[in-house]
Amino acid sequence: MSQKTLAKPEITGYEIPLTKASLKQLAKPTVSFTELTSVGRLNLLRKKQKLEPLYVYSPPQSSSMMRDYCRCERYFFWSIRLGLKPRTWTAISDSKALRIGSIFHDVVEDVSVNDAPPSQLLQRAEQRLQDKMTPEQKDDDESGIWEDFYKSVAMALAYTTKYPVLPKGHRIERVEQLYCVRDLSLGNPLIGQIDMVSRSSGKYYIPDHKTTGDPPAVLAQVLQWDLQPFFYRRIVEISLKKPVFAAIHNLILKTGIKFCPNSHDKKGILSYFYRVQKWYEEKEVEAKITPASSPMVRHMLWFGKGYPSDFEKKLKTCDRALRRSPVLKAFPKTPDMYTCVKFKRECQYAPLCATDEHIPALAEVLHQRYVQINPLSRYADKMPDESK
Ligand code: SF4
Repeated sequence: MSQKTLAKPEITGYEIPLTKASLKQLAKPTVSFTELTSVGRLNLLRKKQKLEPLYVYSPPQSSSMMRDYCRCERYFFWSIRLGLKPRTWTAISDSKALRIGSIFHDVVEDVSVNDAPPSQLLQRAEQRLQDKMTPEQKDDDESGIWEDFYKSVAMALAYTTKYPVLPKGHRIERVEQLYCVRDLSLGNPLIGQIDMVSRSSGKYYIPDHKTTGDPPAVLAQVLQWDLQPFFYRRIVEISLKKPVFAAIHNLILKTGIKFCPNSHDKKGILSYFYRVQKWYEEKEVEAKITPASSPMVRHMLWFGKGYPSDFEKKLKTCDRALRRSPVLKAFPKTPDMYTCVKFKRECQYAPLCATDEHIPALAEVLHQRYVQINPLSRYADKMPDESK
């Protein structure tokens, strides 16, 4: 991201109160497109086959939508505008990295809010995981979910032993809150579930917790240019009508110590936690010689007055893309094949991209392999039914 920042913008906007009903309304699904658009042509075919028409969504913008848009515009079209998911898609992510990150995150948050002993934290974390797993995942011993689970809890305990979740003098203002705000410079609202907002000496901060396979100092540098902290800042500033001073990133290196699936009893779990703790202590000793290799880092990203100009530009471009006509060529494929096959995993939309020059073939692949899911559905369960 360019280092150039704009003069402090006049941010005008307001918060939109959310309920299940208003959330549904905000996703704005529509089916009325002419046969000149790609979705219109797909729907003509689907009508002949007596299939439900495809919806096109124009939801509020989230930071992950913005990331998807920057990654590949066609990806954004499949995932956000059409809300497509492979039929095999499951509630708990199949991606190891996402799984570890989300469990770590939940436990660290639990420590900061409840300050409970490790046995209770473990119990609660187990319950949360069970609630999210599909029946197939519960029966599948080979999936590695429980290995990831114990690894993430051990990492969270090691991190919170070294650093309190919040710096001294901070108190939690809000936790796990879903915000939806209207920024008057944009067409669609902004939405985001923000882990935590803290306050110290009358100033607001946004703490966030992340796991990484690279040295945390490297991730701290990358985060300077990341869009997400600025996106969250914008939402919180509109909601609170106060400036946010900094993001606080709690960063930890993923441990190299594997959990043995045969040690699933209490003694085995405790001995694993102990070994992980020792592993981090050894890494900390090494870091005394080369500080950049420290396995745990707390990094402050000070925001200053303005927003980076690159952030403002991407926010506006993604906003327009959320209302663009649903024509495939208006959402070009990424020219970078690395994005299609990232970390040796094929992009989940590759089968669609392989057929999309030919609408009947695309309609067939789409029907056989994908389902439509409202891009805001992941927020819906957290909403009350009635406006308060
Ligand atoms: S397969 Fe490649 S071009 Fe197609 S959506 Fe995925 S990343 Fe984009």
